[in-house]
Amino acid sequence: MRKVTEFRLEARPDIPEPISRLEELANDLFYSWDNGVRSLYARIDLPLWQKVEHNPKLFLRRVAQARLDEASEDRSFLAEYRSVLSSYDAYLDAEPVPEVVDNLAPETSLVAYFCAEFGFHESFPIYSGGLGILAGDHCKAASDLGLPFVAVGLLYQQGYFIQSIDSQGHQIARYHSHSSDELPIVPVEQDGTLMKVSVPFPGRTVTARVWEARVGHIRLYLLDTHTEENSAEDQELTLQLYGGDESTRISQEMLLGIGGTRVLQSLGLEPTVWHINEGHAAFQILERCRMKMAEGLEFEAALEAVAGATLFTTHTPVPAGHDIFQRSLMQHALGDYLGDSGLDFEKVFSLGAKNGGDSFNMTSLGLRGSRFHNGVSRIHGTVASEMEGDIWPQVPAAENPIGYITNGVHVPTFLAPEWASLFDIQAPSWKSELRNPQFWSFVDNIPDYHYWSVHKALKQQMGEFVVDQLGRQHRRNGTGHSITERMTRHLVSPDKDTLVIGFARRFATYKRATLIFSDLQRLEEILTNPDCPVVLVFAGKAHPRDKPGQHLIKVIHDLSMNPRFMGHIILLEDYDQAMARRMLSGVDVWLNTPQYPKEASGTSGEKAALNGALNLSVLDGWWGEGYDGTNGWAITPRDTELDAEFRNEEEARDLLDLLEYEMVPLYYDRAAQGYSSGWVRRSKNSMKSITPRFNSQRMVMDYVEKYYGPATAQGKRLSAEHGALAAELAEWKAKVNRAWPGVSLTICGSVSQTCAHDEAVEIRVEAQLNGLSASDVQVQCLIEPRCTGSYEDSGPGHVFLEYESESDGRTLFSARVPPSYPGLQTLKLRMYPYHDALSHPLEMGAMLWI
Ligand SMILES: *Cc1c(COP(=O)(O)O)cnc(C)c1O
Repeated sequence: MRKVTEFRLEARPDIPEPISRLEELANDLFYSWDNGVRSLYARIDLPLWQKVEHNPKLFLRRVAQARLDEASEDRSFLAEYRSVLSSYDAYLDAEPVPEVVDNLAPETSLVAYFCAEFGFHESFPIYSGGLGILAGDHCKAASDLGLPFVAVGLLYQQGYFIQSIDSQGHQIARYHSHSSDELPIVPVEQDGTLMKVSVPFPGRTVTARVWEARVGHIRLYLLDTHTEENSAEDQELTLQLYGGDESTRISQEMLLGIGGTRVLQSLGLEPTVWHINEGHAAFQILERCRMKMAEGLEFEAALEAVAGATLFTTHTPVPAGHDIFQRSLMQHALGDYLGDSGLDFEKVFSLGAKNGGDSFNMTSLGLRGSRFHNGVSRIHGTVASEMEGDIWPQVPAAENPIGYITNGVHVPTFLAPEWASLFDIQAPSWKSELRNPQFWSFVDNIPDYHYWSVHKALKQQMGEFVVDQLGRQHRRNGTGHSITERMTRHLVSPDKDTLVIGFARRFATYKRATLIFSDLQRLEEILTNPDCPVVLVFAGKAHPRDKPGQHLIKVIHDLSMNPRFMGHIILLEDYDQAMARRMLSGVDVWLNTPQYPKEASGTSGEKAALNGALNLSVLDGWWGEGYDGTNGWAITPRDTELDAEFRNEEEARDLLDLLEYEMVPLYYDRAAQGYSSGWVRRSKNSMKSITPRFNSQRMVMDYVEKYYGPATAQGKRLSAEHGALAAELAEWKAKVNRAWPGVSLTICGSVSQTCAHDEAVEIRVEAQLNGLSASDVQVQCLIEPRCTGSYEDSGPGHVFLEYESESDGRTLFSARVPPSYPGLQTLKLRMYPYHDALSHPLEMGAMLWI
């Protein structure tokens, strides 16, 4: 056959004047959470809107001129258009909420938020999963609340892979290139030319272009290397998210951390607090140290000044989530940059040391280069404190400075429009009451039949979506139409209202997607009972290099094709944000079975809950705080000391017990009205208890109060007067580090073993301070009740000993300690170095006990 060359030609429409701001709306990610904006495009041409996968910019380039002309003359369309615009303008005009202003004055503060991925919407595919969606939700909430905030990331031409699952259940990964003009970004110009930044790489300079995305009130800047100054190879550095090898990874992280910091500097922005969201972005610490050193500070002082203004968030206890680079790779990749910057390689390398290994851990760099640190749920905060405890070697993990803020989700993004409309009627101010748990009791006032009808409508939509999606999968795989029909028969009969359970997330092995299949015989009996059938819907991607994860996909695929389970197990391909919204708002139950304590937070269960679905989950991550006994179901994790197989079996049995004895009977306990009022009660409990606690506005406000405000103050204090206090602190730390190995602490005399309840006991200790002075340390008596063994670090649980006297290199401290508890208690004495300029009292990681 003759080869025919095809030339691409795109006839672009003109947007008529009366609706010209459609263009502006397409360039603000406001559309990703405002259903009104999206409805405008959908109304102009619904099939096209679906075809372009809800991408407004692409839509406006492909839409027929006639459609636009019609819309611009359609009175009812114009009325809707004006109403959407007026709410958009009102949104942009809104002032910051008062609690933000109290903590972060907009004129003098700025938060810079760095992350390797951002998930705003399916039309902007620069995310892979939870971390990216969380970062997107963080930006959206920062905009809602009016934070002074700027975000920095990378623009990946191909983003993350597109997944198909073939007829054998194998995952096929494809990549699709997106041209920048179909994404909601514009190039940043400066003085009439395109802004670029460059970063020294081994033997060359790599240049990055800079893009701006609008997210309501805030801006996100993205870098990419697809520009002619770079070699062909360097142009591909930002091709794929989490693609390539170690060398690609470290190159991307240099661009993000170093290049990203240079972007903010070129823009003339001076952040007062820097939030490093996961280790990928931690190289920014080096670049900021370089800048401080250029102003005349020594490296150690520069690090103090930088760290005091920095928050580091760690997101997973799973090793694969932490970048570790070999010494040789670090030397090669960063050698030229460090040489140019006057940074010493060994000093930098030691910032990434972990447990004495000769490699560089980005999480350790993040922790040593920041003075504020957090995990992402209560459980994860504890786990991270233990995992990263080596940074503060003498401090008990429970007391080290790693705190937590539990993740939340952006409600307007993930709440189905049908629920939003119902809330608009029931409680019109709900959007501004997202941090007010009392307010949400209004959910109880919604009549049950009305509540259930909304849920049922959404479930029906999901059913249609699944039919569509599965149909496409099976047509492509040649498995035929009749299979799709058999598979979806329970989903498409609204009169039966079958119990549907959803499970969708990355297929990483610790998430144990196949736990529910531990006892197939029993599961089959539960799922296929003709009086009360159950359908399981699965979706998710496994990283292309994660073979065990891909095996899970195959197992589920094979079961879904097995005649025993056909119609009761469904596997959808290419999970993304659009599919997430459909599934989360359509299922009755959202299942999560991670291996405790590896689910740092998890967020999809929160999205499900705000849409009325009930969580059935292992008590790990956010569910450890969210579950209250009435708002879903919990599987209690078995002791982590036990054998993994045994734990799986036990927890799987709990899961099937809950399913068989509680959920199925409750769901199908329908009276004449056709739904279970017990189920509706539980669902309402879930919606009203979870929505106001696990949303991103609550989360971002926690960040403001707990970290952004204090880090801004601390950063300013340390950097004032050319970093005078930072330099003093660095010198003091060096002095303490030299002296500490020779410091000792002993008790003077004895401590009485009994006292009256209203008396105090006299305690005296003697310290050898090895050249430090009494004001360099704090001596503390901890008082713990004997029955529980726990103590409070503040309040009556501790007493400081006062300096008394000094002679012959021996320093005496004493206190009269009143009993804090009735009866038996334990007293413990300890000393640690202390300076007023520390961000956290135990930040040195040094501590001596008697
Ligand atoms: C919310 C979300 C995730 C994260 O879900 P987890 O429960 O944290 O695993 C991943 N992918 C998409 C598309 C999401 O919307």
